[in-house]
Amino acid sequence: MPDTFDLAVVGGGVLGLAHALAAARSGRRVVVVDREGRANGASVRMPGIVGVTGQPSGAAWRRAKRSRDVWADVAAQASVRIEHEGLAIVARRPEAASALEAFMATEMGEDCTLYTAEDGHALFPQFKGAMSAVFWSPHELRVEAKSAMPKIAAWLAEAHDVAFRWETAVTAIEGTRLTTSRGTIEAEAIVVCPGDDFRSLFGETLAKAGLVRAKSHMLRVRPEEGFELPGAVATDLSLIRLPGFAELPEASALRARLETEQPEHLAHGVALIATQSADDTLVLGASRQVDATPDPFQTQAIDELILEEFAAVFGKRPKAVLSRWTGTYAFNPERPVVVEAPAPNVRVVVAASGAGATGAFAIGEETIADLFGKG
Ligand SMILES: Cc1cc2nc3c(=O)[nH]c(=O)nc-3n(C[C@H](O)[C@H](O)[C@H](O)COP(=O)(O)OP(=O)(O)OC[C@H]3O[C@@H](n4cnc5c(N)ncnc54)[C@H](O)[C@@H]3O)c2cc1C
Repeated sequence: MPDTFDLAVVGGGVLGLAHALAAARSGRRVVVVDREGRANGASVRMPGIVGVTGQPSGAAWRRAKRSRDVWADVAAQASVRIEHEGLAIVARRPEAASALEAFMATEMGEDCTLYTAEDGHALFPQFKGAMSAVFWSPHELRVEAKSAMPKIAAWLAEAHDVAFRWETAVTAIEGTRLTTSRGTIEAEAIVVCPGDDFRSLFGETLAKAGLVRAKSHMLRVRPEEGFELPGAVATDLSLIRLPGFAELPEASALRARLETEQPEHLAHGVALIATQSADDTLVLGASRQVDATPDPFQTQAIDELILEEFAAVFGKRPKAVLSRWTGTYAFNPERPVVVEAPAPNVRVVVAASGAGATGAFAIGEETIADLFGKG
């Protein structure tokens, strides 16, 4: 006899868990199926920033805010530590300060502050390099992704009776039946959250979604004794990458200057993001190389570009690099969230923005409301 559920979720990454939570909260019996022994994709390789500021304006920004609130609630209930809150963007150039001034005039500038260089140096003594301004957003949360994911899965199992089938690949879906590498599962509704595997299930549907894969370099480093970040930290490079800033006309002058002054960073999609963990180590990223099949190599020269930007802000390099890794994620800047309905009871959901963890819990609520109705 196959197992029978109201909802089967394929994929135990953050997007799959978010769908499982939304369905379980609406009283559904849920199973999550993943071919790995635990989440091991983008959801544990990311720095874990639940970012609101920098999301595209409008619906995506509001979705990020809603999702951040659910993240805060989930973190409290699943014993996931919030490592730090807020985001500082160090404007190294006057053009970056101008883009930030323009951002402050939008609705997304709500509750954010733009400090002069003088005030910024006084408030954030960690920033030793030359700068034109410092922007502070209070909205962001940061979790340690690699430990947060198993904790959330364990909490879903315990508190919401969500069943998990790890080490189980789903090879076909027909009607209400999932064929897996370990027998069959029956579910009234099915949500597929395959991360950057757009080929194994509903490959024809996803081939039309314009998805590619983006590869990113990450490093864990040891800073000087006593070094403390105020929150997540980014620089000018993020202002031409994060859509909420990049879409502003004022970002053009900054882009032009960066093309002249940091062409190597731009060529490898490098934008510094620095975060800190409970053991005081820092997680640094990130690069972005887009390809159908990203190569598996972590090129030292790209890591150097990340470390160089770190030194430009903090005045020196970290004491030691402790580990390095790469991660890949689905990417389509034109469709940051891909939702397909290949059958009335099936949804395929891919976060394709490079910020899928941020919006995940709100996306999960939207899909479940769409599948089962809001009641
Ligand atoms: C280095 C890096 C940095 C990032 N930084 C951030 C950040 O700071 N903030 C942010 O919001 N986002 C960030 N992102 C993006 C974010 O990590 C992703 O958008 C998000 O984790 C995607 O979650 P997911 O559940 O869709 O995919 P994944 O985490 O990849 O999970 C997909 C799961 O589906 C399973 N699966 C696929 N097909 C099958 C099948 N047929 N049968 C069974 N199982 C299957 C896989 O095994 C996998 O576990 C970053 C990504 C990377 C790589």
